[in-house]
Amino acid sequence: MRFTHKGHTVVYSLGNLKLPRKTLIWSLQEIDTCPFSTTKCRSVCYATKASYRPNVSIARELNTEFVQDTSIKASIKQEVLEAMVMFNHHKIDQVRIHEAGDFYDINYLYLWVNVARAIPDKIFYTYTHSIPLVTQADNLNLGLPSNFIINASTDSATPPEYFQQALKLRKTGYIKHIFHIEDNPKVEQHICIQDCNKCNLCYNPKAGNVYITVKQH
Ligand code: SF4
Repeated sequence: MRFTHKGHTVVYSLGNLKLPRKTLIWSLQEIDTCPFSTTKCRSVCYATKASYRPNVSIARELNTEFVQDTSIKASIKQEVLEAMVMFNHHKIDQVRIHEAGDFYDINYLYLWVNVARAIPDKIFYTYTHSIPLVTQADNLNLGLPSNFIINASTDSATPPEYFQQALKLRKTGYIKHIFHIEDNPKVEQHICIQDCNKCNLCYNPKAGNVYITVKQH
């Protein structure tokens, strides 16, 4: 769905086959906006398959151009994203940031953190490979609102230092869950059933810190 505010148009959807209809889904161009993607996640990236559909591809390009347009002030970007969420306020319970794409720099990460801060009665959640950017935010003590939930995405190709960073970030509250693409017999894990209509672990603010494994992506 297209949404226009102050002359800027962005695109979102409400739910999909896996996510409840009460989820507003925001995406960017996959891979191009994923500076910390691994060889493994790029090889199994389901977002790439969906982008073969022209309307999906155009939507992601439009959103990417909007957030990366340096001629638009950060405050205006924030206003547009907030207006998009508020337009759907009565229809949604949560916002999934990035069905495709990722945080490509810390300013963009904090664009969404600020939107979440401004709309405290909705949950904003995301999966990210950009663990070093979250570490940077933690080191700068930038803070996260309690309605902003970060799941650290890892897989067997994730550099060990990023995995260690994710463990540390989980202790400081920046990252709630570690989401792993394959089985890791070394850790106690919750197995993802891949149906968020029946399980809300990834975006339930009351769920404790857990390690979630998805066996197939
Ligand atoms: S663990 Fe639950 S909420 Fe998270 S992706 Fe899997 S089914 Fe969805």
